[in-house]
Order: sequence, then structure tokens, then C-alpha cells
Amino acid sequence: MIPQKLALVTGGSRGIGRATCIELARVGHAVLINYNENLGAAEEARELVAAVGVPADICQADISSSTDRDLLVEFALEKFGRIDLLVNNAGVAPPVRQDVLLTTEESYDRILNINLRSPYFLTQRVARTMIELIEAKTIPSASIVNISSLRSYTAARNYGEYCLSKAGVSMMTKLYAVRLAEHGINVYEVCPGIIETDMTSGDATREYYNSRLAKGMTPINRWGKPEEVGRAVAAIARGDFPFSTGAVFDVDGGWHLRHL
Ligand code: NAP
Repeated sequence: MIPQKLALVTGGSRGIGRATCIELARVGHAVLINYNENLGAAEEARELVAAVGVPADICQADISSSTDRDLLVEFALEKFGRIDLLVNNAGVAPPVRQDVLLTTEESYDRILNINLRSPYFLTQRVARTMIELIEAKTIPSASIVNISSLRSYTAARNYGEYCLSKAGVSMMTKLYAVRLAEHGINVYEVCPGIIETDMTSGDATREYYNSRLAKGMTPINRWGKPEEVGRAVAAIARGDFPFSTGAVFDVDGGWHLRHL
């Protein structure tokens, strides 16, 4: 077993996930970077994490497959001997934004499956393992961080299935926080605003948010950076919030504040 704490980050190869892996390495965590399709990006992320000086590896697994979820957890245990932190970060946006009156069942099922069903059952799988590790005194405690979105509470009429999936991630955080506290596992939600990643790099998306920002969209009126989300996760991973569980950390330039 490695001496460092092990963080398992889903979708750790690109965007917010990659930045999170690097920030976790900077606070001394070994990192297992999960990815699905893009091996090159995952290898790049592994090099960046290893350059910080901690053990790092990659593991291909489609988190929407129950077989792959099992393999991911088994890989982590075989390679590192422990899981101290799970970051449920992997997520997708609908390729086509459609009015809620036009959402297709296919898109609804795909988005809810990847963004909500997958982290729900991965958390169930990992939490059982964490409980075993804690009971065996292999690790003293553990944490889980779920990456939600401002869309979890902001209704976007052309993004219904994504909003629903992220609202579900918020409730999932509360459910597991309540259930796992007695085992020494705290669960947190990190709720990003608009962050510059591949997910928001399409011309239409970029133009939309740039025009909103030009009119003063958020109190801190700019795009967020992936590392700003990663640093919030790293602060949690450092163990600075032992008496908090189910808490929401907004990393959104103040978007969540109602103001006049
Ligand atoms: P991104 O740049 O598109 O990266 C997505 C990551 O998820 C990639 O590493 C991708 O791996 C992985 N992934 C996708 N489907 C997967 C699957 N089925 N199994 C395993 N991995 C999978 O996205 P991002 O902007 O960093 O977003 C990360 C998270 O933050 C998502 O949950 C997103 O909803 C949330 N978020 C983003 C923003 C934003 O403005 N960007 C705002 C709020 C919340 P491959 O490349 O290998 O497929």
C-alpha cells in the first residue's frame, strides 16, 4: 500500500478533472486518473501529476458501465491499496441544446445516465470499499466530492436534461452525506459556475456567455478557470472541513447570490 492518500478522479484527463488531479497532487495525494475515450489527454494528465512528485496512474473506464466501475475500483485497490477520496467529476453536456418542449428521450437517458446514475452507483461501490478500509484501520477516514453545476438550481429552458442531472447530484450529495457520516466519510458538493474547458469551448456557448458577461452576469464578472475548482477540491481533500458534510462550495464568481 502506498503511504500517500489516494484520490480517484473520474474524468480526470481533461478540464476541471485534470486541474483537480494536479491540485490534489500539490496537497500530497497520489492520483488515479479515470478517462473514457481520450487516451492521449489521460497520458498528458498523468505526466503533469507525476511531475508534482506523487504516484499517478490512468485507468480507462466508462463510468456508465457497471462492469467498468467495478474494474476501476479493483484497479485502484490493486495498484495503490487504498481509496481515500473519490471525486465524481466526469460529466457530459447534451451535444444539441433543445427547448424542454423538444428534449428527446434518448438525450434525457444519456445525460441522466452519465451525469447522475453513474456517480450514484460508483459512490455506492466506492463507499462500501471505504467502509471496509476504515473498519480494517487501513485508512482513518475518507471523503467524497461531487462536482455539480450552477445548473443544479438554475433553470435553463434549453438544457433541461442537464439541469435535472445536476439537481440530482446535489441531492445525491445530501443522501450520501447523511448515510456515510457514521462511518467517518464526509461528502461535499463543489458547484462550479461557467468554467473555461472543452465543454464550454463551442462557438455558440462561448458567444452566449461572453455576451452575458458583457452585461454583468456575475459579481466576479469573468470566466472561471479549471484550477479554481481544483483548488476548492484540494482544500477539502487537505482535511480542513472535518465538521462539515453535505456542504456546498460555490466556485462561481458569486452567480448564486440573488442581488439587485
Ligand atoms: P470536459 O472538459 O468536457 O471533460 C470531461 C471529462 O469527463 C473528460 O475527462 C472525459 O474523458 C470524462 N468523461 C466523459 N464521459 C465519461 C464516461 N462515460 N466515463 C468516464 N469519463 C468520462 O468537462 P469539464 O468542463 O471539465 O466538466 C467536468 C465536470 O464539471 C462535469 O461534471 C461538468 O458537468 C461539470 N461542470 C462544468 C462546468 C463548465 O463550465 N465547464 C460548469 C459546471 C459544472 P474522455 O475525454 O476520455 O471521454
